[in-house]
Amino acid sequence: MLQGNNIHFCITDRPIIGDVNIKLEPGKFTVIIGPNGAGKSTLFKILSGDIPCSKGEVLYNGKPVNSFSSQQLARIRAVMPQHSSVSFPFSAWEVVELGTLNAPQEFDQKEIIEVMKKLQIWHLRDRSYNLLSGGEKQRVQLGRVLIQIWKKQAFPRYLLLDEPISSMDVSLQHLVLDLLNELKTRNIGVLSVLHDLSLVGNYADEVIMMKNGNVSFQGNVADVFTSYNLEFLFGYPIQVRKFNDGPGLLVHSLPLHHINHRLSQVQ
Ligand code: ADP
Ligand code: MG
Repeated sequence: MLQGNNIHFCITDRPIIGDVNIKLEPGKFTVIIGPNGAGKSTLFKILSGDIPCSKGEVLYNGKPVNSFSSQQLARIRAVMPQHSSVSFPFSAWEVVELGTLNAPQEFDQKEIIEVMKKLQIWHLRDRSYNLLSGGEKQRVQLGRVLIQIWKKQAFPRYLLLDEPISSMDVSLQHLVLDLLNELKTRNIGVLSVLHDLSLVGNYADEVIMMKNGNVSFQGNVADVFTSYNLEFLFGYPIQVRKFNDGPGLLVHSLPLHHINHRLSQVQ
C-alpha cells in the first residue's frame, strides 16, 4: 500500500496542500482530478518522494519514503512527471532505454521492443526525441517509465503518472489507459492525474477529487463520481449518465452560452 497520512505543504507560509489522507492499493487504478491549481501536481510530487511534505508522512509498503535510497525507491515506484525535458539529442529508443537505468535487473532489448510496440512508438525509434510531436513525446516518456517496472516482482509496486495522456488523440488515450489496466494486475497500484472526465469515469477504480489543496471526495468511482460532486469540484454543471444502460458512463457538460441562456430564463 502507498499511504499519505496528514499531508500538509506550504510555500512561504501559504498552504498549498491542507490535510490530505490517501491510500493507494496495488491492483487498483486511482485517479486524481480537480481544477487547475488545486494542488494535484504538488501532492503527486510529495507522494512520489520528489519533495518532502511540511507535515505528515508518505509510506511505501509501510516504510517512510525518506528511508529508501533512490535505488530502492526506483525498485518499487516509477514516476512520470507532468513536464519532462531531454537536453541531449537522444533518439526515441535511447529515451525509453534510459528507464532501464532505474530498473532492478538487466534488461534485454526484447522488453524495450515490447514496450515500444505496445505504445505504438516502435516506428519512431530512430527519430530525434526533441523533434517528436507532443503526443509522441508523451508515449516515449511513458515507455521510459513503464520499462522501469515492466518485469514482474513479488512485492507491490506503484506507477505514478501526472497527466500522462493530455496530448494524445482519443484512440491513443484508450490504448494507454487499457495498458494501465493491464499493468495493475501485476500487483501494481496505478495513480494518475487526469483531466478527461469521461475517461476517468470509464477506467478508474478509485477517484480522489481535489479542490483548493484539500481532498473534497474520495472513494470508489461508483460512489463518488457523481454529477453533484463534479459540479461542486469544478464549479460548473456536469452530468454523469449511464451510456445506453450499459456499464459505460457518459460525462457531459454544456457550453457556457447554453448555461447562461438557461439561467436567464429562470431569472
Ligand atoms: P495542479 O497540478 O492541481 O494544477 P499544482 O500542484 O501545480 O496544481 O499547484 C497548486 C498551487 O500551488 C498553484 O496555485 C501553484 O501556483 C502553486 N505552486 C506550486 N508550486 C509552487 C512553487 N514552487 N512556488 C509557488 N507556488 C507554487
Ligand atoms: Mg498539475
